Amino acid sequence: MDFALFCTRVNILFLLIALCSPCKFIQSPMDFGPLNFHQTTDTSSLDFGRIVFDSPSAVLRPQSPKEISLLLGFLSASSFSKVTVAARGAGHSIDGQAQALDGIVIEMDSLPSTISIHRGRESGSSYADVSGGALWIELLRESLRFGLAPRSWTDYLYLSVGGTLSNGGISGQTFKHGPQISNVLQLDVVTGKGEQVTCSPTESSELFFAALGGLGQFGIITRARILLQDAPPKVKWVRAFYDDFETFTEDQELLVAMPDAVDYVEGFILLNEQSLHSSSVAFPSHLEFTPEFDSNGSNYRVYHCIEFAIHDYQVESTDVEQVVTEISRKMSHIPSHFYSVEVSYFDFLNRVRMEEVSLRSRGLWEVAHPWLNLFVPKSGIREFKDLLLDNISPTDFEGLVLIYPLLRDKWDANSSAVLPDGGGRAEEQVMYIVGVLRSANPATCAAQCLRDLLRRRRRVAKVATDPRIGAKQYLARHPSQGQWQDHFGRHWDRFVARKAQFDPLSILAPGQGIFPRTY
Ligand code: FAD
Repeated sequence: MDFALFCTRVNILFLLIALCSPCKFIQSPMDFGPLNFHQTTDTSSLDFGRIVFDSPSAVLRPQSPKEISLLLGFLSASSFSKVTVAARGAGHSIDGQAQALDGIVIEMDSLPSTISIHRGRESGSSYADVSGGALWIELLRESLRFGLAPRSWTDYLYLSVGGTLSNGGISGQTFKHGPQISNVLQLDVVTGKGEQVTCSPTESSELFFAALGGLGQFGIITRARILLQDAPPKVKWVRAFYDDFETFTEDQELLVAMPDAVDYVEGFILLNEQSLHSSSVAFPSHLEFTPEFDSNGSNYRVYHCIEFAIHDYQVESTDVEQVVTEISRKMSHIPSHFYSVEVSYFDFLNRVRMEEVSLRSRGLWEVAHPWLNLFVPKSGIREFKDLLLDNISPTDFEGLVLIYPLLRDKWDANSSAVLPDGGGRAEEQVMYIVGVLRSANPATCAAQCLRDLLRRRRRVAKVATDPRIGAKQYLARHPSQGQWQDHFGRHWDRFVARKAQFDPLSILAPGQGIFPRTY
């Protein structure tokens, strides 16, 4: 054993003794040889949800994947410690999923943020190698310098590559290109046993598919190879309004059936003036839609908005305006309530940043977010919408309700991501993602109010995931292993077997609350 490795082991041993000590004597940054542990930081027990605040005992800011490997290798070989380890990407989880109570948080942004772009000769052969802690906005900026960009996105880009690949990564491009986890060619992963493995669909494929959508349970993603395509200079961004839910969903399904023409499809339910304006940052000057939400107070009217986009490569042979007009003719939106703007591709993808800046300026970004995200089978979407509206008071709802269709065949069934299984019905190709993205403004919603919102979130999730609607939660932390088992359904045994293979002592991602740590 070389001397550096010996020192590291001795030093981690000291760390473990420190962590196990009842008086927790770690008070300042600690130099444990090549591994530099820090005292708990402000962010290590904080996430976007601001609902769970579990403090770790130490924070590792690794400079290389090797350091992560040394730590996990040591922990999995030492039989006396029950220390757990959570990778923390950008900390945009809702329920403490990147936290590790009394364990070690690894801050992934400390890894050197390397992004290298490879332009292939043929279409579909360009890719980026990017570190697991890098943000998608960084990848976008770098790839655009080469006229390239990833195909599949999330709405918000200040999320880490490893964090979204551990969940799915979805947005309005998912119907066309699949989720982000369907656009990965290769990964470097450090398993719970400390092994550094390069994996792909053909090389160590079990680990590759386990890690994609794997909730951080099988290993820490330190590098991902992401598929790129030519980036359009501009995007035609369109909004159409509806006062009828059926017509709204029929038109969404019409759009996702036109992948050759349409590049992005989303939509939202407009519950009140605030939800109309909060999502209209790019449209305010000519959005002359002034709906009457309140028809005499009792029978509340809601509206719906479809958002779609077409990449504008500004090629003479394609008149994007013409394409939009032809698509509009096929749609059944409220006549004359159809708006479009042309924006740069970067501004389009980075649109939620505008919303963030606006919310921050009003002190409404760093507040509690009792979000609920669900995949709902097409056959249950009408009933789910009624359930949701029965449990939401439009007058006091702050936030956004996103709803748009996805196509099941764009997801790889080998990945760990969980989709609805159709609740006994023949599996439908179309399913919906619904995001109830609610903010709890402390000025109007204090502790008791937040508890009520969380109770309502649980109630809606419970009814929605019953076989009658057959939904599956996305990005959720389930409260018990039994409920995780229900969530995974027929895929539970595979998930457990993968855990036994790659993280047998259940060291990783304790904040998901799936597997208790074992010796
Ligand atoms: P973290 O919260 O840091 O971590 C999430 C989980 O992944 C934890 O269990 C953690 O331990 C694990 N993890 C983190 N890094 C790694 C790694 N390198 N290797 C292995 N495991 C790791 N999701 C969508 O799909 N589409 C959206 O449009 C979308 N929009 C969002 C907008 C906002 C404003 C927010 C707050 C979230 C949004 N999300 C969206 C959800 C987001 O994708 C997830 O919360 C994701 O986990 C965030 O990435 P992160 O880097 O913040 O992860």
